[in-house]
Amino acid sequence: MGYLYETHCHSSQCSLCAISTAQELVRAYCIKGYAGLVLTDHFIWGNTAVPRHLPWEERMRRYYRAYLDAKEAAAGLDFDVIFGFEHAYGDGKEVLVYGVELDFLLVNPDIPKLNLDQFVERIHEAGGIVIQAHPYRNRSYVNMAVGPRADIVDGIEVYNAGNKPGEDAQALHLAWEKDYIITCGGDVHWAQDERIGSAGVLLPHRVATSKEFAHALKRREHGFLVKGKRLGSVTEADLD
Ligand SMILES: [Zn+2]
Ligand SMILES: [Zn+2]
Repeated sequence: MGYLYETHCHSSQCSLCAISTAQELVRAYCIKGYAGLVLTDHFIWGNTAVPRHLPWEERMRRYYRAYLDAKEAAAGLDFDVIFGFEHAYGDGKEVLVYGVELDFLLVNPDIPKLNLDQFVERIHEAGGIVIQAHPYRNRSYVNMAVGPRADIVDGIEVYNAGNKPGEDAQALHLAWEKDYIITCGGDVHWAQDERIGSAGVLLPHRVATSKEFAHALKRREHGFLVKGKRLGSVTEADLD
């Protein structure tokens, strides 16, 4: 029932909160039977490990370096490494971005000044997609008075292996409101994490680039891995 891809994971090269390197993640996911992973390190805000004072081009090349490291580690493994990122846009809220690459980042040095509406518009112009990550995650760093931006995102992450009971079901209800792209992700920060093997999407074919990954999700022909179970669609009973 399809090729399994992780949609959400972090490397220590780019994310301060991550323990394992991108190379270690690649090997761990490959052993667990995934066909590939999308590296979604924390971007310019949030828990980024890339110094903010660097000139834009160098900063972006450093972000991309983790992806290139992962890709190098995957050479000869029959494993796809895809570039993505997790963008914190304020109030502890975050979106996952797929379908753009380093060339996009290099020509958009004003990203730090954009609000989320402008940011999403920019991603759409470049052919990428924006998914609301863990829309109802309740943590001390999240302003719960601010809701997810369901009005402008393309999709909803309905299962995040790091969520607490109830948070995923609420995300699923949100996803029912429109024909959103639905994703499931491990939000893994460590190569020994048991969440590797618990979450992801099942694509009908292999993908080699971020554009191809975004395109595959847009077709909405994918399945899901929730708590290690392969599913054609996600229901409330599959969540907490
Ligand atoms: Zn993190
Ligand atoms: Zn994350």
